Amino acid sequence: MLAKVVIANRGEIALRILRACHEMGIKTVAVHSSIDSNLKHVLLADETVCIGPAASADSYLDMPSIISAAEVTDAVAIHPGYGFLSENADFSERVESSGFIFIGPKAESIRLMGDKVSAIKMMKEAGVPTVPGSDGVLTGNSDENLKIAREIGYPVIIKASGGGGGRGMRVVHAEAALLNAIVLTQAEARSAFSNEDVYMEKFLETPRHIEVQILADGQGNAIHLGERDCSMQRRHQKVIEEAPAPGITEKQRKFIGDRCVKACLDMGYRSAGTFEFLYQDNEFYFIEMNTRLQVEHPVTEMITGVDIVKEQLNIAAGEKLKLSQKDIKIQGHAIECRMNAEDPKSFMPSPGDIKLWHMPGGPGIRIDSHIYSGYKVPPHYDSMIGKIIAHGNNRDSAITRMSNALKEIVIEGIKTNIPLHQEILQHSAFKNGGTNIHYLEKRLGL
Ligand code: ADP
Repeated sequence: MLAKVVIANRGEIALRILRACHEMGIKTVAVHSSIDSNLKHVLLADETVCIGPAASADSYLDMPSIISAAEVTDAVAIHPGYGFLSENADFSERVESSGFIFIGPKAESIRLMGDKVSAIKMMKEAGVPTVPGSDGVLTGNSDENLKIAREIGYPVIIKASGGGGGRGMRVVHAEAALLNAIVLTQAEARSAFSNEDVYMEKFLETPRHIEVQILADGQGNAIHLGERDCSMQRRHQKVIEEAPAPGITEKQRKFIGDRCVKACLDMGYRSAGTFEFLYQDNEFYFIEMNTRLQVEHPVTEMITGVDIVKEQLNIAAGEKLKLSQKDIKIQGHAIECRMNAEDPKSFMPSPGDIKLWHMPGGPGIRIDSHIYSGYKVPPHYDSMIGKIIAHGNNRDSAITRMSNALKEIVIEGIKTNIPLHQEILQHSAFKNGGTNIHYLEKRLGL
């Protein structure tokens, strides 16, 4: 087993990783920015190293400082969490060339999946269903591009191969706008991602976002842990997630899960990962793979009983997966609400002192959060301050438990989006399940 792990992240996910390490008897090193010395996991870690000032670029994104922290503390491995350096192939490579284990996939997998055109090509070869689109990068041949769009049928979407975070995409509704849209997206991609490659896909108008969680050991074994529905989004940010996805049958789960597993085996993938799909009219369409742990991993843990972070640590230690596909049984339903320090109406961030925090509880309630009474939410980072997860025997029971948990929460000193969650949970469309990715923004009148 790994003796000592550097947690190269902050907030709730750093605490989540610390808990998994301590459960397994692994020592922890919390690396943190100067403003973060009061974070819960920093207070609980075996060792701490301040790696720089509040600005992420000089701390959580500073590769040499993080690797030096591993050196001075004699750690053996680095867990990047999500965000920050978690999908940075160069970081993974530098960690490994410095003699440490990167708790995640090999650099080549991160690189392959980070380039969307190469990811889609790989998925097609593995039999994973993709969105109808151009065969790779668009060339400068206008006639050819017009022909591709005509064959796909409008509307189409032009996407940057190196894009991320919902940027570098343009929807085209009619032929007259196509060529200009390609040129504009290429220019944007060049300046934002230093890579002007763009490709074309059919624009799906009312899809759901459904994603498949996988685990692979890089030694010839891979399994899937079913799917999550993350369609409740605002500005491409997930707000509520759930597992399993409402209405997905066991047959569909097996169909899509088996294909994701095959893709993992084909590329020799290692660690946890997520295949993201758009789902419309009973069909899955691959859009991208996230080569890291995800914010919403707890809903999968609640319905499968598998601890995804502990599995990542075992895999990083060189162990083979002990679980096989037949061990994975889905039990009940789980929902996660992301708690953000923000105004529930204007969505403006609301950092500041938490004067009082009272956590909800009861059967089936899990709270992944680093906040406490007296903690000051800094303005420098993402506004997410934790996650409330409710598990029940079925979806209705999970929703009821979540509603009750939200009512129990007391938080004073900062504004949060808890009122928004309470409102969404009352919507009949949410209660019915299966809303598409535009539902929330439409409902909010955006
Ligand atoms: P990013 O890496 O920037 O998140 P994605 O490829 O995951 O890029 O796409 C982000 C979002 O853009 C999707 O969740 C979806 O809302 C929308 N989108 C992307 N491709 C399509 C498509 N072909 N049809 C409809 N919507 C799309």
